[in-house]
Amino acid sequence: MATIYLGLGTNLGDKADNLHRAVEEINRTIGKVTSLSSFYETAPWGFCSDNTFLNAALRAETTLAPEEVLARTQQIERDLGRTHKSAGGIYTDRPIDIDILLYDGLCLTTPALTLPHPGMADRLFVLRPLAEIAPDLIHPVTGLTISELLRRACQKET
Ligand code: ADP
Ligand code: MG
Repeated sequence: MATIYLGLGTNLGDKADNLHRAVEEINRTIGKVTSLSSFYETAPWGFCSDNTFLNAALRAETTLAPEEVLARTQQIERDLGRTHKSAGGIYTDRPIDIDILLYDGLCLTTPALTLPHPGMADRLFVLRPLAEIAPDLIHPVTGLTISELLRRACQKET
């Protein structure tokens, strides 16, 4: 059994509903969700959009290998995306993005998967929800706890 932490983001449609539905699907197809953060409203990062994001983090217990977790999170992204697709079949902002932040203490780099997630150590929208549910968890690359990473990221921001 492995403990995984996932980061969730949405900026389209009924955002809280998107997050709830993603959590339900993760619980059903990946493993028991044992902790869920509050939902945090954040400004879009990395691209321009009028739609603000709602972000969350969760912990789950799984028997699946990392690549299988990725395959299933991507399946959930497609399933939730499809229901919100416009009539023309075109959308830019995604209704749900699911990132694998941590898989136990595993460090892994393959073409499809990097663990821990390469952006997590300095992204406030990942660290804020994650620090709520796992403040003392050690990030295996930096050796810092999630709350230390959050403090560091907040200092850089200002
Ligand atoms: P982003 O999350 O950066 O907005 P995507 O969700 O479209 O972008 O993911 C792009 C690719 O990132 C995916 O096809 C996936 O193979 C890769 N990837 C690498 N590491 C991870 C990870 N830890 N969690 C999720 N996706 C990852
Ligand atoms: Mg992603």
